[in-house]
Amino acid sequence: MNISLRKYPYPYQAMLAVCSDLDETPNKEIYFETARYLNTTEQTILGKGVGLEVGNSIYFDMPENQFSYTNTDNDGRKKIHYLIDSGHIDCLHSFGDFVNSRERIKLCWAELQKGQRKLEVWIDHAQAPTNLDDDIMQGEGAVAGADAFHTDLTVKTGGLSFIWKGRVTSIASQNVKRNYRSLFNIKEPYKSGKTILIEFIKGWFARLGSVKYAMHKDNHVLRKTQLLDGTPVQEFMRCNPSWGGVSVFDSARGIHNVLTESVLNTLLKNKGCSVLYSHLGKVFSGEQAFKQCTRDAFELLAAYQKNKLILTATTRRLLGYCRTVEELSFMVKSADDKEQIHLSTTYKGQDLYGLTWYADDPEKVALYINGKYYSNLQINPADNSGRKSVSIAWPPLVFPDIKSPV
Ligand SMILES: [Zn+2]
Repeated sequence: MNISLRKYPYPYQAMLAVCSDLDETPNKEIYFETARYLNTTEQTILGKGVGLEVGNSIYFDMPENQFSYTNTDNDGRKKIHYLIDSGHIDCLHSFGDFVNSRERIKLCWAELQKGQRKLEVWIDHAQAPTNLDDDIMQGEGAVAGADAFHTDLTVKTGGLSFIWKGRVTSIASQNVKRNYRSLFNIKEPYKSGKTILIEFIKGWFARLGSVKYAMHKDNHVLRKTQLLDGTPVQEFMRCNPSWGGVSVFDSARGIHNVLTESVLNTLLKNKGCSVLYSHLGKVFSGEQAFKQCTRDAFELLAAYQKNKLILTATTRRLLGYCRTVEELSFMVKSADDKEQIHLSTTYKGQDLYGLTWYADDPEKVALYINGKYYSNLQINPADNSGRKSVSIAWPPLVFPDIKSPV
């Protein structure tokens, strides 16, 4: 029997994470209502929820007009912990602008270790002293001996696994060949042409040996690399496939120019995977956070999921899936009228969710994970390619009740 790994969890053909830095989120209500809007189908102050799966980020000490762990109240902090535990806050966006000492870092990190689930994704923020990149993001987080050094506490201990150090590409789909198709805007030929040219040049710099743009050339979401102090990490690249360039339309005020049919169709056609760079707390106004165009954009994305085309997942889940697929190996053995898939992987639990193998006769497939029989194998009907498959299910995250004060 012919057994092969499907690129994405059945039945989807592409994968996307909306990865939002919380910069400038004006208040607690908008922070939590955004989560409810994106992750439930309930009525919210931003409109009727779209029922996707979109995470958010958190940080600590920030100017007082910006939502953060430190600036919110006890109710807000409790809800933050609920959402970390449920997987809906999945990224630490540095420790914040004002965290610059070991003592403060230790206290903040301890707060994050209280719950059942831990944050494993780090995203550098602006000029935060704790940033892990010393080049683009100018941080001291990985500089041994510096006041804001913390990798011994946060990364080397196995806490943070996935690190973002400032790299954004204009290319809409990663883990495939670079493709500029969705970037050209016929109404804005000069500006969109410039965006394409810049992205093209980054690719050529990489070919000429530029380390800074190596990820752009390879066009992979993940790569294994090291921090300044030698700590091995998985670095991820985000994309903002905006025709105006990587720093344009990178917020709630512009996301309708990025979540477009053109971009989503490109992602789909290429069978790509992308972590979308955005700032959903940069809203239109405190009174009217999203406009109709914003809702239309998220409803469009929800339609791609409903139609079994693009799976939207939190950043942590998407990165975990990519890492597992890149590092797993399996072999197929025939025995007792069964086709046995023997999977070898160093990952377990949630990191195996969604793994799917094409098989001519799914009923006759048995899965063994590191030698142990897996009893919950899901049998799938033929997908758009006409092939049947078996899967380890991809269960949705369960959104907690945070509507009322807790
Ligand atoms: Zn930021």
